[in-house]
Amino acid sequence: MSSNTAQVTPTAPALRTEDLARFKARLQDQARALSAQDSELRARLAAEESVTANTFVAGIEGAMAAEADDETIALLHHEQTELVATRQALERIESGDYGYCEECGDAIGVARLEVLPEAHLCVGCQDMLEHRKGR
Ligand SMILES: [Zn+2]
Repeated sequence: MSSNTAQVTPTAPALRTEDLARFKARLQDQARALSAQDSELRARLAAEESVTANTFVAGIEGAMAAEADDETIALLHHEQTELVATRQALERIESGDYGYCEECGDAIGVARLEVLPEAHLCVGCQDMLEHRKGR
């Protein structure tokens, strides 16, 4: 219940220690859950069709995958992307860069991190990136 006026100083940490600890715990949970899901998806793939599983492991997935496996592989890709982002966020916590935009260096903001704890760009830079990609 603090009614202090918000102080925005460029040199201040992006997050309070307790916020940082909270996001770290969430990211660790997220990484654990994603790893578990990853193993489960791989097991599913392996059980479905060993040829497809081998194809995936070889890194040329998709082209030869049976239709039933496409969904599993898409999930797995999504999983891996999120897992990488989550682990990178944890690394940024360790290095003290967490909570700052990688592009412009501004604080990302607690509100945005609540929604997306693995965010590494502020809303402005994320927008710009998506517009650039869309062209
Ligand atoms: Zn930015």
